[in-house]
Parts: sequence; structure tokens; C-alpha cells
Amino acid sequence: GLVQKCQPIVDALNKIKTPTSHTALFSPRGVTYNEGKAKEYAKMDHLILVCGHYEGIDERVNDYVDELLSIGDYVLTGGEIPAMAVIDSVVRLLEGAISSDSLVDESFNEPILEYPQYTEPYDFNGSKVPDILYSGNHEAINKWRRKQALLLTRKHRPDLFEKLPLSKQDKKLLEEAKSSEIPDWELKAIEKGHKYIK
Ligand code: SAM
Repeated sequence: GLVQKCQPIVDALNKIKTPTSHTALFSPRGVTYNEGKAKEYAKMDHLILVCGHYEGIDERVNDYVDELLSIGDYVLTGGEIPAMAVIDSVVRLLEGAISSDSLVDESFNEPILEYPQYTEPYDFNGSKVPDILYSGNHEAINKWRRKQALLLTRKHRPDLFEKLPLSKQDKKLLEEAKSSEIPDWELKAIEKGHKYIK
């Protein structure tokens, strides 16, 4: 396969680099991109992304970049799709791109996945929106969401769950999840809330 030469890439870098530039070269060998990196990049002044193609880039170009970056353990034909993923995830963190409220609960803000989301209709082919979400009791809803987020993370991303510092309340929620019974606080909130959906 064709290997991309050093000179044109290093010339291009020299042309666009500034004293505050950070340069990442896409390579399956790089550190895996994640939300932490997205946050780091969002604070930077100038980010340069180098995309390889074909067999990849001459090894010696690595001396002219700050890091090698991968988006996962699979091989793509080029670095353009990794660059799009990085740009999208960084731009949405920049001030004014989306409302800062929307960013608060999202997956990976802490090492935890987001709670499940629902919208109308209440009953879809017999599968119902959890009643607690109609309770109007925001404290109970937040508690329920935290519990679901903890359970989803433990089930789908045990690697993240291991890194998650658990509060006293988190431990309590996980403990009560061992039982299939709906806990009292949730039942009480649901009983009050039912008037909104009936
Ligand atoms: N020969 C390389 C190897 O086996 O590691 C693969 C080269 S790949 C076909 C061409 C380019 O796509 C790479 O130079 C890199 O820029 C980009 N690329 C492919 N997979 C990638 C991944 N998982 N993460 C980041 N970039 C990737």
C-alpha cells in the first residue's frame, strides 16, 4: 500500500502551526479518544488534526505532532471520519453551540451513562413510560434517573462503573435495586402523580 510522505505533511504543519497549536495525528495506535479529550480540546486555542489515508503516514511525521489519536480498535480507510467525530464532539462543548443545561446530564460527564429518555406516547405497543416521570416530583424523578444511570452503567460499561465514585445515596439506590419491589419513595411520588395522566 501507499505510504504518505513526510515532506508535504510537515510543510503543511509548518505553514499552519501557531505557538499555541496542538497537533493530533489519527492512528489506530493512538490513545483512544473520549469525552475527557473532547473537553481538553474544547479549551484549546488551535487544534490541528492530521488524517492519514491508504497505508498511513511515514512514521517520522510523528516527531512533528503532539499526540497520536485513535477512535477505537478498528481500522478505517482514512482519518476523515475520526476528524468529523472529534470536531462534532468538541464544537458542541464550545460556548454558545448548545445550551449548557443540555450538557449537564449527558453520558460521560461523570464516568456514568445517561439515564433512559422517553417521550409521548405514554403507551407504545404496551410498553409504558415509567409512571414516576409523570409524578411532577422533581426530587423523586432525579433520584430515579440517578438509579437508572447507575444500573445502566454497571450493566453496559462495567469498566466505567469501576471508576465511578459512589455517594452514600448511590450506594443506597443500588442496594434497593436488589429487590424487585418499587421503593416507598417512588410509590408515594407515583400515587400523587397519577392524577396528571388519568
Ligand atoms: N496501516 C495502518 C495500520 O494498520 O494501523 C492503517 C492505516 S488506515 C487504512 C489509514 C488511516 O486512517 C490512518 O493513517 C489513520 O489516519 C486513519 N485511521 C484508521 N483507523 C483509525 C482509527 N481507529 N482511529 C483513528 N484513525 C484511524
